[in-house]
Amino acid sequence: MTDEFEEQHHYVVGHKQPDTDTVCSAIAYARLQQSSGRDARPVRAGELNPETRFVLEEFDVEEPELLEDAAGEDIVLVDHNVYSQAVDGMEDAEVHQIIDHHRLGDIETSEPIYVRIEPVGSTATIITDLYNEAGVEITPSVAGLLLSGLLSDTVVLRSPTTTDIDEEVAQELAATAGVDIEDYGKELLAKKSQLGEKSPREMVLGDFKEYDWGGQTIGIGQVETVEPETVLEQKDAVLDAMESIVDERGYPLLVLLVTDLLEEHTEAFVAGDAVDTFQSALDTAVEDSQASLPGVMSRKKQVVPPLEDAFSR
Ligand code: MG
Ligand code: MG
Ligand code: MG
Repeated sequence: MTDEFEEQHHYVVGHKQPDTDTVCSAIAYARLQQSSGRDARPVRAGELNPETRFVLEEFDVEEPELLEDAAGEDIVLVDHNVYSQAVDGMEDAEVHQIIDHHRLGDIETSEPIYVRIEPVGSTATIITDLYNEAGVEITPSVAGLLLSGLLSDTVVLRSPTTTDIDEEVAQELAATAGVDIEDYGKELLAKKSQLGEKSPREMVLGDFKEYDWGGQTIGIGQVETVEPETVLEQKDAVLDAMESIVDERGYPLLVLLVTDLLEEHTEAFVAGDAVDTFQSALDTAVEDSQASLPGVMSRKKQVVPPLEDAFSR
């Protein structure tokens, strides 16, 4: 990197539809750059989600300003490296660095730049390594931000994207931030779902997909949560909402997967006339319109294929 860049005012920015990793990584990396005298400012590429707002409040850090147009600006990209996820105008910006944990994308530059991409669970993991490599002390507040990004992206170290490096870095950050990984992680993920504010109908249709199999349309909703009780306790109301949707749309089968991210378990609510097909396809028993699916986390990988087989037969 050139001396010119070191003195230049530049923005550190993550992707659009910002998540906690992208926002916290931008803030932490800007601070690392500031510590060596660079004029770096963290910005965000969109509205923050409730989880990220909670994190900033928790560690007493100001919300970064919004960058609406990157054209003509000097930029460090974190947590993404494709134009489709970047702030508008990025094609006409000067990208000076990329710190990321996603596959190599399509960013083009006019000069050679510093790029750090590693197959780890979060960008926050890499930023932590960069602090350590630079010998810069991580404050408890920055450790809290980085830990939040790491735990959010890895579903509290449970996602298959989690590496040994993520585990080690999480321990280090948790010690510095003074928080317990499991307790804090659960609190963090609870903010993401905020199920308490959703109506039963919104729970069913919030993350919802329709499938056309064998001339019929099947609906499958999923709630991914760390507080499945919030949905399961409202079973009657949720089933009422599901029956109404079945009547309106004529589905032979409507399923709501209530997936406990921490326990890696799904309880399914089932409505419609094709309950038997669901039972045999998923090799489970439906009792009182409910079935247990131990180990099921993924609609796409674990629920859709057997149902598609059964309905296409
Ligand atoms: Mg991200
Ligand atoms: Mg990330
Ligand atoms: Mg993410």
